[in-house]
Amino acid sequence: MTGALICSDCGKTLNPNPRRLGTRCKPCSARAMAQSPVKREKCRVAMKRRFDEPGYKQQHVARCTAGTRRALKDNPEFRAMRAEQGRRVGLLGLGKEKNAAGSPARVKAGRKRTETVLAWCPVEYRDEYRRLVRTKLIRAPEARRMVEDMIAADLARYAATGVLPQSARLQAGAAEIEQSHNGAAEEAAGQGMK
Ligand SMILES: [Zn+2]
Repeated sequence: MTGALICSDCGKTLNPNPRRLGTRCKPCSARAMAQSPVKREKCRVAMKRRFDEPGYKQQHVARCTAGTRRALKDNPEFRAMRAEQGRRVGLLGLGKEKNAAGSPARVKAGRKRTETVLAWCPVEYRDEYRRLVRTKLIRAPEARRMVEDMIAADLARYAATGVLPQSARLQAGAAEIEQSHNGAAEEAAGQGMK
């Protein structure tokens, strides 16, 4: 506790500190602990116990996610670094040979991503949203606003008339296809409903 006023590892002069237990300065102490298998094992067990507490892992993930989001928003250097890392990992083309485009794993991943990205959009409005973004080249936030306005207007109309405008629209679309393609209409309507 007292007496050792020089770090036993690097020889740096130590300020008197009644809470110091060993003979090292702070960086040397951290290094020694990080390199000690006994200490590491103790840390591993303690950390595992902590993560087994109910809710701790979820809270930890939430804190990390919030921190990363904040940094991406407020710290341009961090943002650029993450973008660069992403680009480099993308260029590696990991898994592209094993899971080519159209393979079951890729299809499943694509569906899951759609469910995440378009979670806000009811299924029957997704084709319209895609049309706005892909064909009309409207930016995503603006297209989302337009579709949300459409949903609100449809709901208002439904409340007033009892007719669901979206299903009427789908039926109209199917009828149009039937006029031009005859036989293919049923299949197309079925796809529109998915
Ligand atoms: Zn030291």
